[in-house]
Amino acid sequence: MKGLMMDYQLLIKGIMNHAMRTFSDQEVVTRLVEGGIHRYTYGDSYKRMCQLANALKKMGVKQGDRVGVMGWNTHRQLELYYAISCMGAVCHTINPRLGPENAEYVINHAGDSVMFYDTTFLPLIEALAPKLKTVKKYCVLTDKANNPTSKVKSLVYEDLIAGESEDYNWPDFDENTACAMCYTSGTTGKPKGVLYSHRSTVIQAMVTSLPTSFGAELSDVILPVVPMFHVNAWNVPYSALMGGIKLVFPGPGLDGASLYELMESEKVTYALGVPTVWLNLLNYVNDNNLSFSSMKYSLIGGSALPEKIIRGFDKLGVRCRQGWGMTEMSPTGTTNFEPVGFYDLPIDERIPYQLKQGKALPFVDMRIMSDDGKVVPNDGETSGNLQVRGPSVLSGYYNHSENILTRDGWFDTGDVATIDETGMLLITDRAKDVIKSGGEWISTIDIENAALSHPDVAQAAVIGMPHPKWDERPLLIVQLNEGAAPDLAEILQSVKDQLPKISWPDDIQVVDEIPLGATGKVLKTKLREVFKDYVLPDLRANGGPSTSASASVEGEAKGKSGGLPFLKRKGR
Ligand code: ADP
Repeated sequence: MKGLMMDYQLLIKGIMNHAMRTFSDQEVVTRLVEGGIHRYTYGDSYKRMCQLANALKKMGVKQGDRVGVMGWNTHRQLELYYAISCMGAVCHTINPRLGPENAEYVINHAGDSVMFYDTTFLPLIEALAPKLKTVKKYCVLTDKANNPTSKVKSLVYEDLIAGESEDYNWPDFDENTACAMCYTSGTTGKPKGVLYSHRSTVIQAMVTSLPTSFGAELSDVILPVVPMFHVNAWNVPYSALMGGIKLVFPGPGLDGASLYELMESEKVTYALGVPTVWLNLLNYVNDNNLSFSSMKYSLIGGSALPEKIIRGFDKLGVRCRQGWGMTEMSPTGTTNFEPVGFYDLPIDERIPYQLKQGKALPFVDMRIMSDDGKVVPNDGETSGNLQVRGPSVLSGYYNHSENILTRDGWFDTGDVATIDETGMLLITDRAKDVIKSGGEWISTIDIENAALSHPDVAQAAVIGMPHPKWDERPLLIVQLNEGAAPDLAEILQSVKDQLPKISWPDDIQVVDEIPLGATGKVLKTKLREVFKDYVLPDLRANGGPSTSASASVEGEAKGKSGGLPFLKRKGR
């Protein structure tokens, strides 16, 4: 028997309408790209969303058209998110850190008809424009006074919307209509397009609004540092408006000093971002003997949360919650919300829990699959390939004919993990990063976390090096804090002290800067390239390739790092 409920579609305009009728006085604050702070209300924002939709319509944007946006987290990008999607077009956010080749590829592949961009990205847009086949109009996200001279003929955002009507007749359509698009970062092969629907986005916004997922409240002031140009800033632009929460956008100011200043001046209580951002912020706060006056919570995801960040924030009275997810999942799959009474425990008892990725959100199913295709038990010990399904998980990539799901309809995440009896997920690695040694799997995340807990280590990455006896052994690569000159043997020992013997790195190497990819994660592909001729110490002694490995590696790495100034290696 079918229920007798209305066939009311889950559309993003439902979030927009709710925000405007219920919380129209709530504030949105932005650090502007052109300098200074911009401040307005949800109500003001709604009027400009209507003006923008009217302007887009006049420009010829129709339902289903892809509209490109390359911008920082600002009130203008918020307007683009809602106006484009709610008029029935697709908001294609482009990560400027993808590099020119990938940016050109994704814009052409998506077939964007209009391109909005922040002034910061003008040089990239100028370089790309002659190669963009489908873009008919460009629009720079600023006003006349700050409009830079440009080789690319561009409209000016504030002029574009000025004079347009502050009303718009938002259409109705099927909830499965596409609303937004984001490409994976292309660390393996070409980036692939994930096409979100109104339904998947509304469901994600609802479940991430639960106290046991992101858990932000009306009394919070929320700062999404996670970029709107990648996976919709974890849906915060939707969940915050649905909850009526004050939003603070950092614009281009992502360094420790700018973030700290904004957090203090706007009384931010809740911030979201990837670990690298928080490491920089914590360094800034500690180096300058500062403290937080309002910050309470930080939601961290995108890569494993190191203990150092949990402890660093804890000392400053800030609680950390970890989330795990991926572009293909809209993106959040789990959060490690705290059980009742959790913060009564001493920190050493809390840490092991906080290092885990958490439990599945409603409507996210997870299972662990062995390499030979069997579902393994949720015993917290048996690791395997993590597979997921749910209404906010993709069913296929944009314009890719190949079937990406398992025969029974699950998506393989490419992560290696365990799940325990309580449903707690622990990611041990990316399948492509895991080190296979003597038939055992070694988690690179565990070794990296152990290295990061050393006070002199700023960044750490572990890669597997070929070994004739063990197949692979771990090599630890570290970037040191500025001015630090520690004894590397002592760092290695401190890592060993925290790990079982099989996970002990065979060697440690120092680089000036560990390369980060387009989403702020360590680019292990680049590290593997630079260290491709490196030889592990025990192989050198056993008459392996000539060397005094150190000298030959040094030479090789320097040679390879021609185009990679950040990868200059330091002598030991
Ligand atoms: P990409 O960098 O490939 O575009 P995403 O930003 O979608 O992709 O990243 C997804 C991947 O990031 C996950 O599959 C997982 O490997 C990693 N990841 C995300 N959150 C966490 C976390 N909390 N702990 C460990 N790994 C994480």
